[in-house]
Amino acid sequence: MAIRIIRKDEDEVLRKKCKEIDKIDDKLRVLLDDMAETMYDANGVGLAAPQVGIIKRAVVIDAGSGLLELINPKVISESGEQSYIEGCLSYPGIYGETKRPAKVVVEALDRNGKKQVIEGEQLLAVALCHEIDHLDGIIFKDKVIKYVEREEAEEDEE
Ligand code: ZN
Repeated sequence: MAIRIIRKDEDEVLRKKCKEIDKIDDKLRVLLDDMAETMYDANGVGLAAPQVGIIKRAVVIDAGSGLLELINPKVISESGEQSYIEGCLSYPGIYGETKRPAKVVVEALDRNGKKQVIEGEQLLAVALCHEIDHLDGIIFKDKVIKYVEREEAEEDEE
């Protein structure tokens, strides 16, 4: 496993629409391993492949209940609304309040190509939406209603 460089700020890779993954192989599994290691090293809650310069639809998330690896994730339903103060490993030191669904259901493949369904509420719902947005070149800053100071923000970054 290796820690990869996190792309930041105006890096144009963060604005790309990522491609569906059609081949799940050892190269992809190495990418997932590296993404998890990079996320944990940076104390993040989630990381999307474009954040390490790979324009493919893969994300890792750990919202406190273990590592999730999602390939080609899709939101299949969402309900309710919550306000959350978000950050992003690609925008260190920037925090803002967003509105996200209170609950989402996401379908994705796992590292063996098996379909998985994940239900998320609270932080996990936010992280799922935040990371899936990355795959379409959407940044949390696009959704910020109000920026906040560091002291008001959560310690976690997505
Ligand atoms: Zn992010």
